[in-house]
Amino acid sequence: MAEGGAERIHLTSQAVADVEAYLEYKRIVGDADKDLPGGIMTPEQYEHFKKTVVVDRIKNRLFVSWTNPDGMDCKLVGPETPCFCGHRYKAHRSDYNDLPPHPIPVPCQERGCRCRSYRYLPSVVGTQPPRCTCKHTAEEHDARAPHACKRSGNACACRAYRTSYRCECGHTTADHAMIVETREERLERGKPVGKVVPYAAMGGITGFSSLIDGYRRLDDSGIGAPSAEELRSPMPAECKYFMPPSQLQAQPAQLHSSTARRAIQPDRRHAAASGQPAGSMPTVKSTHGSQHTTATKPTGHSRK
Ligand SMILES: [Zn+2]
Ligand SMILES: [Zn+2]
Ligand SMILES: [Zn+2]
Ligand SMILES: [Zn+2]
Ligand SMILES: [Zn+2]
Repeated sequence: MAEGGAERIHLTSQAVADVEAYLEYKRIVGDADKDLPGGIMTPEQYEHFKKTVVVDRIKNRLFVSWTNPDGMDCKLVGPETPCFCGHRYKAHRSDYNDLPPHPIPVPCQERGCRCRSYRYLPSVVGTQPPRCTCKHTAEEHDARAPHACKRSGNACACRAYRTSYRCECGHTTADHAMIVETREERLERGKPVGKVVPYAAMGGITGFSSLIDGYRRLDDSGIGAPSAEELRSPMPAECKYFMPPSQLQAQPAQLHSSTARRAIQPDRRHAAASGQPAGSMPTVKSTHGSQHTTATKPTGHSRK
């Protein structure tokens, strides 16, 4: 191959490495940098974030699933999974340095949103959540539970969103439970928890096929081997969460010393000093008991 061609390939892979390094930073930081000057952390702020928020995040990770009466996780909620309020899971609070008592709230952090805790709703044919029995859309209901209908200045008598829509598993929406639980609680239910990851708003994502609905996934959480059909289909963005950091970051030889570059690189000196591979997170021994399982039934069900 001509030298010119090799050089062009090198530049391209450098650009790819830059993007990958930034994506890795965003997966860890989430929206925590949105109000900072320039919308990005300084290297010092990033280091501090990893030593505080991320350590607590690993210790107190919340596993979020929408589960049917047979115990199948019909939906493992991921960072991009929408809530009843219209905002995605990653817009909700999921980092706690000390866990509050059960039921652990996962409130929406978008300005002005009334949602007090994440609630999953299945979509009808891919896009819209099912209409309420009052015939109005989910969007026309209050984001705050129990989701009273707001249609025409609260003229609708509906006081709580309810739907007769059946999940693909065969059970009605109301028969499912929104579960927010700790690692120990999930293990006690006999569900896999996947690898320890430092990323923001992972929710119930524990493996490559976690984003596939439960009735199609054919395993507990998505940590089983994907089928040939899945391997042929386009990879969802979240699959990158399970690639080793070494595949996502620029090689040390390719690094430059610009502030922006340093801002999006893990501290390799620190990683080397602590005897850990670059980009890996410390293993945290959990101190939480496993006596509670939070299973919040959708309000519509309790009003039946
Ligand atoms: Zn919201
Ligand atoms: Zn919400
Ligand atoms: Zn309604
Ligand atoms: Zn209504
Ligand atoms: Zn189901």
